[in-house]
Parts: sequence; structure tokens; C-alpha cells
Amino acid sequence: MAQKTKGLYGGVRSFISALCCPKCGKEYDHLKIQHICECGGPLLAVYDMPQAGKHLSPELLKERPPNLWRYRELLPVLDAANIVSLGEGFTPLTPLPRLEERYGFGSLYLKDEGVIPTGTFKARGAAVGISKAKELGVRHIAMPTNGNAGAAWAAYAARAEIEAHIVMPEAAPLITRTECAAAGAKVLMVKGLISDCGKIIARAIASRGWYDASTLKEPYRIEGKKTMGYEIAEQLGWKIPDVIAYPTGGGVGIIGIYKALCEMRTLGWIGEKFPRLVAVQAEGCAPIVRAFEKNAGKSEFFPDSKTVAFGINVPKAFGDFLVLDGLYKTAGTAVSVTDGEIIESLKELASAEGEFVCPEGAAAFAGIKKLRAQNWIRADESVVLLNTGAGIKYPHTLNFDIPFCSLDGNI
Ligand SMILES: *Cc1c(COP(=O)(O)O)cnc(C)c1O
Ligand SMILES: [Zn+2]
Repeated sequence: MAQKTKGLYGGVRSFISALCCPKCGKEYDHLKIQHICECGGPLLAVYDMPQAGKHLSPELLKERPPNLWRYRELLPVLDAANIVSLGEGFTPLTPLPRLEERYGFGSLYLKDEGVIPTGTFKARGAAVGISKAKELGVRHIAMPTNGNAGAAWAAYAARAEIEAHIVMPEAAPLITRTECAAAGAKVLMVKGLISDCGKIIARAIASRGWYDASTLKEPYRIEGKKTMGYEIAEQLGWKIPDVIAYPTGGGVGIIGIYKALCEMRTLGWIGEKFPRLVAVQAEGCAPIVRAFEKNAGKSEFFPDSKTVAFGINVPKAFGDFLVLDGLYKTAGTAVSVTDGEIIESLKELASAEGEFVCPEGAAAFAGIKKLRAQNWIRADESVVLLNTGAGIKYPHTLNFDIPFCSLDGNI
């Protein structure tokens, strides 16, 4: 294996050693294409942590380029030649001093995924997922999407010369449909929800043998998303915050962050104490919140789901049990917010801090305001808020009546 120490993707090599089912513990060979376990569970990547820890340290990271491939020892791509990159990762962790003061947080930061290629954190999952698919010789991928994942996977698939087949709800943001088509993906619309799209994709995969790139049906998207967790710790000087709030749909973002925390603790890069993870959902689609309230291990399908925050309109997530496990294990919580609160929070972040976030990011902010008001988040605590995408991807969420000025008018 190539032993290059520096260069664009930083790392030496990957220390992936297997894939493992978190439900039944069965292990699978990572050198072959794998999807889900015999038992129906998702598969997670396992690394040789003692070896990874010998080859990578917080000190060494300082010399590496600011993209997610700086954690390459802990990512699944074996040969750097297979890395498909548009420069994703190492997004800013920006302090929000005015809102911190307004609501009385100890400290408040926004991790801004809006500045990443394709404008959402879905690029992280797509970069690692497509790179690994390329390494495994995949020619066709297929997936259902609420828009942003499709847009990201289409872009990285184009760069990898892989054909992407994507099915999305008609109601998904128009720009994401355009992004898929522009990238040359075969994209179809459905008069239904992402769960309906998933059934169509499952039939196509069965009949055509395409690579299933649905959420958690391939093991590597989560590996890309987990890098958010590494970055938060690294950017805070390896001091983890008290709370991390995440707008939760399919749940891979929050599962990924939890996986990163576990890995960093094993490596000894962070201490024993974890941040309390908060899953924020919309009141119109809150299956994880409902399940959390019942202390349940998995969620029920949420009927007639609807919210302005389209990326978190997922009525039943395949990885729900892992999301809930992460919340319980970190003494976290799940909270829902109304569409009205989402819109208000969107305006507030933009006008108070210049952060024009996506509705999902605004939901996360609305969620922590609620938890602060209930004193679940205390006045001395540090909070990291995930903004999962750029506000400018959703030009129709906010509507202002802008008055005219006549050509000879004075202002
Ligand atoms: C997909 C998406 C989410 C939800 O992420 P999960 O990892 O599926 O929970 C949140 N925000 C945006 C903008 C998204 O596109
Ligand atoms: Zn299993």
C-alpha cells in the first residue's frame, strides 16, 4: 500500500478492517460490495484503532489540508487514487456572539455546512460513498432522495464517471432536481414521499443490479458524515462542547457524529465525557421525538408528514434505533419545533448574525432556544449548532414585501 505522508489528501492509508452489524454483531468483508446484514441491520465500518492511533494524532493533523480527507486513516478508501473530491469538509465553526448573549448560552457556535460543494453536508456522505463505490468497481448507483442527497451524489457520481439513478418527490426543492439533471443523473419525480421513492428504487435494484446508495443501505455515507464530529472536536482544540444540536431526518448526521465521538474516545483524543446530542425535528414530522418520549428503541412511521424543512421530512428512518441509542447514551434529547418557529429562527440568524441558513439549520436553532428556555441547556453551557445547508438553496422559503423606490425618489 502506498505510504505517502503528505499531499492533497494528507493521510497515509486507511485502517478499515471490517464491516459490522450493530444489531447482531456479524462481521463482513470490506473488500467486497456489501449493503445490509442478513438480519436486516445496517453495516458500520470498523477500524484497527490501535494502528490508526499510531499513524494519526491531533499533532499530525495540524499539517494536513483543510478537507475531510485529513482523517483518511479513519475513512474507508484504501487507495488515494480512488478519492473523488470537490474540496469538501473543514467547514467554519463560527461563534454567534449576539444570539449567545440574547439567550444566555455559555457559548454558541454554528458549524456551517452551507459553504460545502453542492451547498449541504450531504456532500460529505457523497464524497466518501462515491469514492468507495469507485474503489469497488461500481458503475451504476441508485437512490431515493428528498433532494440534497441526490444533488450531492449526482455531482460526485459525475466526477467519478458513475451513472446515478435518482428518484425524488415532486415537492423536493426545484434546485435539487436541476442539480441532478445538470450533473447528468437519470432523475425521476414521484407524486409521493421519500418512502414511496424508496420502494421504486428497491424494485429497480432488484431487477437491474444497481448499487443501492440509499441511506444506510451502503456502509460509507455515514463515514463521510462522521467527519463533522471530528471537525467539531478539532476546531474546539479537542474540547468537546456540552451540547450538539442536529436537525434530524434519516439520522445519518447524528449517528455519524456519535460514531466519531466513540472513535475519538477510543483514540484518546477526547476524554470520557460526551456532548449531549440533541435531535431536532419538525412538529409535522417528528417520529424520533415521539419515540424518545416513550423511551422506545425504535420509531413508528409518522403519517401525513409535512414541514418547510424538507431535508428532515423522513417519516421512518432505517437507522432510527441508532439515532435513539446515541441520544440515550449521551444523555441527550429530542425536540420538535413548528414551521412558524423555523421561519422565525431563520430570519433571526440572518438578521442577528448574517447567517442565512437552511430551514433545517433554523430548526436546530429553534430547538436549542426551547431547551434553553426549559433550562435543559444551562446558562454556562457550550452549544454547537449544525447548519446543514445554505439558505440560498431555498430561495422561496422566506418572502419579503420589498417596496419600490421611484427613479427620482429619495431614501
Ligand atoms: C438530509 C438533510 C438533513 C437531515 O440529515 P440526516 O443525516 O438525514 O438526518 C438535514 N438538513 C439538510 C439540509 C438535509 O439535506
Ligand atoms: Zn445483523
